[in-house]
Amino acid sequence: MAKITRKLSPNKPSPKKASSKPPVKKTASKSKPAQPGATKKTPGSKKPKPWTEAEIYEAFSRFRKANPEPKGELEHLNPYTLLVAVVLSAQATDAGVNKATRALFAVADTPQKMLALGEEKVRDYIKTIGLYRNKARNVIALSDKLIAEFNSEVPRTRAEIESLPGAGRKTANVVLNMAFGEHTMAVDTHVFRVGNRTGMAPGNTPLDVELGLERVIPAEFMLHAHHWLILHGRYTCLARSPRCEVCLINDLCRWPEKTV
Ligand code: SF4
Repeated sequence: MAKITRKLSPNKPSPKKASSKPPVKKTASKSKPAQPGATKKTPGSKKPKPWTEAEIYEAFSRFRKANPEPKGELEHLNPYTLLVAVVLSAQATDAGVNKATRALFAVADTPQKMLALGEEKVRDYIKTIGLYRNKARNVIALSDKLIAEFNSEVPRTRAEIESLPGAGRKTANVVLNMAFGEHTMAVDTHVFRVGNRTGMAPGNTPLDVELGLERVIPAEFMLHAHHWLILHGRYTCLARSPRCEVCLINDLCRWPEKTV
């Protein structure tokens, strides 16, 4: 059996909220409000100067030097338990998910075992996580689908992963990156904020930021870029009080409100 992947935390204070769903894309309104963390457009405000290739390279070289092998903080045993953990992490903290899944995955680390456990028991294991009723239903339904359609394996394409109950684009990006080593960029609330504030990849939606980051980040950094940016947002570029004074890229950051 595979070993539990334990989190690697940088030497930074522990977060109150480790992960949350990125802002939902709104399309209906003509004058749609900017997403939280999106680049502010105030009358007369200047668009920040785009980063040069050399600056982007420099920023990611610094992230790599500081943390050569960054890891995600969701504990898992294999691609299946990673998938389940990511589905459970929507609007929940990684720490809260880990607390519930340690016991759950000890008894159910395959789709078959999860089905055998049944929805009611899954619900009991995860009842400390927000939206647990719906999530328990999804975990059972996705396990069922994996067995029926994917030979009990986590599929390796975005479309197939997104076809699973409870899995969306962010889930697919995390699984493709962490389980299969693909160069995807999952945009959660932290990556969204960092992409916008720094000016690396400004955008009003998570998809804008995802595509913007993929466009500018050199391939050699893409395997770990998602984790570097999440950790940067979680421990340094905090939502309310960014720690600009200790930020590795404070000389490069374009945010007009940075404190250095
Ligand atoms: S300088 Fe401040 S705002 Fe800019 S990335 Fe660093 S912590 Fe965030």
